[in-house]
Amino acid sequence: LLNFCVSTPRWLLVCFGLWLNLTQCSVAQTPRFGTTWEVLASQTRIAGQPLIWNRHQTILLARDGQLLNIPMHEVSEPRQIDDRFSPYQATTIRSQLQTELGQGMEVTHTGNFVVAHAPGKATVWPDRLEHFYRSFVRYFQVREVPVSAPEFPLVAIVWENEADFQRAIALESKAGVQTLGCYQLGSNRVHLFDREPQKADAFWQANRATMIHEASHQIAFNCGIHSRWSPPSRWIVEGLGTVFEAPGVWDSATYPARSDRLNRERLRDYRNWQQTKRPAEAVAIMVQSDRPFQTNPIAAYAEAWALSFYLIECYPREYAAYLKKTTQRQPFSDYSAEERWEDFTAIFGNDVRLFDARFQRFMNEIE
Ligand SMILES: [Zn+2]
Repeated sequence: LLNFCVSTPRWLLVCFGLWLNLTQCSVAQTPRFGTTWEVLASQTRIAGQPLIWNRHQTILLARDGQLLNIPMHEVSEPRQIDDRFSPYQATTIRSQLQTELGQGMEVTHTGNFVVAHAPGKATVWPDRLEHFYRSFVRYFQVREVPVSAPEFPLVAIVWENEADFQRAIALESKAGVQTLGCYQLGSNRVHLFDREPQKADAFWQANRATMIHEASHQIAFNCGIHSRWSPPSRWIVEGLGTVFEAPGVWDSATYPARSDRLNRERLRDYRNWQQTKRPAEAVAIMVQSDRPFQTNPIAAYAEAWALSFYLIECYPREYAAYLKKTTQRQPFSDYSAEERWEDFTAIFGNDVRLFDARFQRFMNEIE
């Protein structure tokens, strides 16, 4: 079972609706958006850009890109330390990560990534990530979707084994999720583990799909395709991640045919889903709610992949416009079922039966 995830810390969900709510501010001086503040919390000085600041909590965007949630009753000595906000350079993040992880891991900094990995793997993981980054950008550029440079260096941690990986992701996400990789919205980090540590040259075999899937989430959330402050519906995020798993998508130069852009594994899952329980309202259900990812994850991933693949192949302009629309919502606001449906139908029309008939015809004909 390949179950991938984007993990959202629970506090991030709870705090939706509180975007820089300054009216309930408990300090004399009111933080202004775009500035850097320092607070003392749990005997530690923490600096960041206030995204939320009210009598209950502050959410600071740290200079390494992590979101820090601090209950206001723990905050003391708040003061503005800069009238701008500037992210750390990769070299600073690199040395901080090295300190955090200790000498058992090696940390390598390349153009866009800061990658922690087992000693001696300095070229393998960073090279693959950079290569994929370029493919990702090119994929959207040829479809005239603007891709911005990431504001923060992209941090990926490749744990040596699954146990270390599970321990690390349990700190932010719900433990016990069966997953091979994870992108965390709060820490902005990708966590992976090396499934074939003995075989550097067979790297692509076992690790490829997971790395590509998780890196696509991270790049999408950092380069303007999705917004970290107002995440899109889950099917859009997972749809894009699964679309990228196919060789014709992450390496279109080597695999130019449309059949190479098919995600064979997801297609197989989709055919099973079609032949068993797929309801006529599957699209509407998925557009309005993320619940299918809990109730029937394999079918949900397959449906998200199929719907995304169909829209990208047949309606690239509309799909791009839809992606853009989802990034323009009010930050930290709830995304209701009604709004989700409105945004979808505004672009793809509200004749759901006609939409599904065309979609199913497309899916039945591809091979
Ligand atoms: Zn995913």
